[in-house]
This record gives sequence, C-alpha cells and structure tokens, in this order.
Amino acid sequence: MNNSSPLGNRDLIRAINRSIILNTIKTYGPIDRAQVARVTGLSPATVTGITSELIETGLIFEKAPGDSRGGRPPILLAINPKGGYVIGIKLMEDHALGALTDLEATVIAKDQVLLPDQSATSVIRMLARLVEKLISKAGIGKKKLIGVGIGLAGIVDFERGLLRQSPFFGWRDLPISELLQPHVKVPIYLDNDVNTLSMAEQWFGAAQGIEDFLTLTVGRGIGLGIVANGRFYRGTGGGAGEFGHTLVDPDGPICDCGKRGCLETYVAYPGLLREAQLFNPNIKTIDELLDLNEKMDPDIKSVLGKAGDLLGRSVANLINLLNPKLIIVGGEGVRLGKNFFNPMQSAIQKYSVPEMFSDCQIRIEPWGDDAWARGAASLVLRQLFENPVHQSEFNFFQGS
Ligand SMILES: [Zn+2]
Repeated sequence: MNNSSPLGNRDLIRAINRSIILNTIKTYGPIDRAQVARVTGLSPATVTGITSELIETGLIFEKAPGDSRGGRPPILLAINPKGGYVIGIKLMEDHALGALTDLEATVIAKDQVLLPDQSATSVIRMLARLVEKLISKAGIGKKKLIGVGIGLAGIVDFERGLLRQSPFFGWRDLPISELLQPHVKVPIYLDNDVNTLSMAEQWFGAAQGIEDFLTLTVGRGIGLGIVANGRFYRGTGGGAGEFGHTLVDPDGPICDCGKRGCLETYVAYPGLLREAQLFNPNIKTIDELLDLNEKMDPDIKSVLGKAGDLLGRSVANLINLLNPKLIIVGGEGVRLGKNFFNPMQSAIQKYSVPEMFSDCQIRIEPWGDDAWARGAASLVLRQLFENPVHQSEFNFFQGS
C-alpha cells in the first residue's frame, strides 16, 4: 500500500502544498494566512483555498484574533489536536501495547492484549482487537481514526510495510500492514520500534529542532535509531542501526542473531542475568536483579559497572563516527540506574574525541510504559504532517 502514488500531477502538487501548509501551521502556529504565505512562498489564493479545506476536515481551526496595531486583527490558524486520532502499537514477544493519541501525540487511551501464541494469524487477530478496544475506550467515532502505526523489534521494510526479519517471532518477510489492513480500514505504517521512538523524540520530544541525534535503547536487546541531517537513516534494506550486533569478541557468547560476542550479549538483559548468575545462581529474572541492585548488592554493582563501561566504549565509537548533538537513552533498561549509567558516561567521555564529546549531550529518559506506543503513534503523525504522497491515503482527505 505504501509505495504506489495514485496521484496525478495536479493532485500531487496540491497534496505537496497541503503538506507544506500543514507542517508550517504545526511548526509556527498559531499563525495567520498572510504569514503562512510568506513562510511557504505560496500565493495567498493557494493558502486561502487549502486552509479552508483543512478547516473543513477539522485538522486546523481558526483561533481568537491575534495582536493588531490598528485595523482588523488577523485570524490565527492552529492545528486542532482533536481533529483526528491515531493509534500506536508496540508489538512484543507475548503481548502488544497500544495507545490512542490526538494529533499532538497526547495519549487519550491505553490498553494491551496478550498473544495466545506466536502464529501470524493470531497475532494479526489480536492487533485488530486491540485497535477496536482502543477506539471504544477513547469513545471516538471510527471515522476519526486516521491511521495505525506499529513498532516492533527487527528489520522492517518501511516502504512496503513488511517485517523482513523478527528476532522474537522467527517470522521472515511477513506483510503485516497488508494482513491487518482489511480489519482496520485505515493506513497502517510499520517500522522498527527504536525508529518509532526516535520519531516521537524528533516530533514531540527532546530532539525537536535537532538535526543529528541518536536514540539508544537498552533492555531485552540494544537498539539504535539514527537521525542525520534531520532525516532518518535506514540503510539500503531498512536494517541500519543494528548497533546491538556490533562485535565485541568473536569468541564471546552466542547471540540471538546466530553470531558470537555481539555487544548485546554483554549489555542487554539476558547477558546481565548470565553474568549475575556467576555470582548468585539464585537470580532468575531481571526484576530480581534490579531488586538486588536497589539494595546496593556489591556483586550486581560490579556486573552492571562492567556492562555499562562496555556500552560506553561502543557509544564512544558511535560519537566518533557520527558526531551527534544529542543521544537519548531510553527503553526498559533505564531502570538499571546509576550503577550502569555512570560507568557508561565515564567510558563515553574517556574514549570519544574530546571535541565531539563536548558537542554531544547525553540524556537518559525516565521510562514510561506508553513511550513505545506513543512512538508508534508518531509514525502516523509524521506521515500526516510531512509526506504529501502518503497523505492521499488518509481517509479524511478523501471526504469520508
Ligand atoms: Zn548478534
């Protein structure tokens, strides 16, 4: 569904202009029509035509008059956060988390479904049920839903809505968007979960206005989202950012990916557990490890310290390679706390080029369960505000 452009030239130009105007109002609003024309370079007539269309669809609205120095006060345009809603879903090994948000990514309703098994048929059925549950929980009309975004671990072909490889489900080349579409009847976007998290940061979070930043996630695995020159870097096949599978030791432990000694075999949850069990074989889960960490268990402190230091060395390599302005650290693993992250920060400082280290701010985000789902919702919002070709797919531009 994603790679065809059914628009003729005139329609395409109009869709591009609509996208530019919408994005301008999102970025600079509240803003009057004359300013929109100045910022975009479009003619006042074009701006007037397209903004009335956007008002009609409910996407923008006219705010109270702005300041004026004599004469009639200008009417200001702003995004109407309640003009439409999107759903973001984070699909995990045994359950899926969902959030329904408004156009500013504010969460209106949250819910989750458990996956009875890992067959594609039953996962698709449960995703469809989650969408239904969220719509009814939020109490919005079905027609107000403009799209569904799904984030999941693995290699994703974003353009085709295709999951190429999934570490948890063992699926290969599964067209998730195509399979789910008949059940939800709105555009569906699929991306790697770390990319969706980066998108939320870029559009609504700490990375607003920052052209070069990285999103690093710690938890069950290690993930990396790369934004360079303001754009997502996906690589040729959508696989860029598999930072967790960079090599630390070719003779190291076996990794999920089939190779040995990848970074995440040392610093993600399973690796941390393995190391902790060398000291204390009774530790069975990551929650038990976190408990002991809170009690300042010296063995756990040393395990986390070693892992944090190792991650920091690898992040220093990233800084030297990409010179980012900001690194946002998120994911369940932020709960590992200072025994992990202090050594990480020290190693980053020690091993990165000083000039590039001082360019780079490192920000460890507090963890909230809905961050992933909100990220997936941003996947749809970004399409709405940014991409004129994909905009043609949204229901309410087709007058329904
Ligand atoms: Zn690996």
